[in-house]
Amino acid sequence: MGGAGGGGFGGFGGFDGFGDLGDILGGMFGGAFGGGRRRTGPQQGDDIGYRVSITFEEAAFGVKKEISYSRVCHCPDCKGSGAAPGSRAETCSVCRGTGQVKRVQRMGGMAFQSTAPCDNCHGTGRVIQNPCAKCRGTGMAKEVKKLTVSIPAGIDDGERIALRGQGNDGKNGGPAGDLVILVNVRNHAIFERNGINISCEVPLTVAEATLGAEIEVPTLEGNVKYNIPEGTQPGTSFTLRGKGIPSINNSNRRGDLIFRVTVEIPKGLNEKQKNAMKAFADSCGEVNYAKHKQFFKKIFGQK
Ligand SMILES: [Zn+2]
Ligand SMILES: [Zn+2]
Repeated sequence: MGGAGGGGFGGFGGFDGFGDLGDILGGMFGGAFGGGRRRTGPQQGDDIGYRVSITFEEAAFGVKKEISYSRVCHCPDCKGSGAAPGSRAETCSVCRGTGQVKRVQRMGGMAFQSTAPCDNCHGTGRVIQNPCAKCRGTGMAKEVKKLTVSIPAGIDDGERIALRGQGNDGKNGGPAGDLVILVNVRNHAIFERNGINISCEVPLTVAEATLGAEIEVPTLEGNVKYNIPEGTQPGTSFTLRGKGIPSINNSNRRGDLIFRVTVEIPKGLNEKQKNAMKAFADSCGEVNYAKHKQFFKKIFGQK
């Protein structure tokens, strides 16, 4: 009973374990623990799972997706009663419509009372003399349903949205299950996401990192200009406040964009460029390379 078009991933279990426990305890103690779901009484419809794949940007800003899935519904001919149009299901005369019969069993000199589903009506409390031809008296049918799902801004990969009552219709007057949308967020070409913050790497040239520069930094809403200070080291992180993902819980709150710079060492230099680099290197002293100086001081200090 999964969703249509290969999108579904099967129903989610209800509280069947609890219902069975109620039956067992009810059977042992004469119904004192009643309230557990009767196996053949009103049954809630199954939940239906449906997977939706969206882009990184759609997750950040929200999106509406039209989906189509198949669900179990009440038979349109008999409106779920199971009785042919023009006829009615009648109240079971054996159990008087309760769907259950009392039994007394003697074990070791004790009389154990229990309740069991009524055989005459299979626990439904109703008997159909003239079953509906379309659903053969089951009252249930299948339909393909179209829905527009609003996926809120800030949703993250693997999160679920439950649409109450859009799952399979219930049996014997039970409520419908839910449609559970499982959201899959596709990766972005450059951004990674961590909660409401996003991050990326930005490569700088040696000259940009050394001299400082106004660079272009990508955001989810286009590039912005940013001033990198003089003497920026590789691995330094900068933060653009409020350029991350909006909080799904608080629309006033938005995460940050953190970009980390790398420095690209130029390759394929010609003779003229190499000579210029050598001349530049010769002009540098310890004062220009604090880390380099400290590193070798540590080595000689250990000897
Ligand atoms: Zn029917
Ligand atoms: Zn009955």
